[in-house]
Amino acid sequence: MEDSVQIRCTRCKNVFRDRAKRLQNGYSRQCPSCEIVLFFDEDSYDANIKRAMRTARRIRKELRESEGVSTRQATAAPRRYGGRSASSSRGTEDDGDD
Ligand SMILES: [Zn+2]
Repeated sequence: MEDSVQIRCTRCKNVFRDRAKRLQNGYSRQCPSCEIVLFFDEDSYDANIKRAMRTARRIRKELRESEGVSTRQATAAPRRYGGRSASSSRGTEDDGDD
């Protein structure tokens, strides 16, 4: 499954890719072309960064959901048998004496 996001550099407009899992608020990396440091924030002034962040978020969600489906197991919890033995039989047989 595709887990990388296209990022367009603010300065040189070079397009490169990075892993969706890394692209979270506060992440920064250098453009491989012009080596400017790009800061990734969902509230970035840069539309390219914003779009990359949105894409990364969507991919992370899809990855999480696909992982959830594959690791989910049908675990049928065994039912406990709570058998109560009827222990309320008291031998109270009144033989009327004489
Ligand atoms: Zn660049």
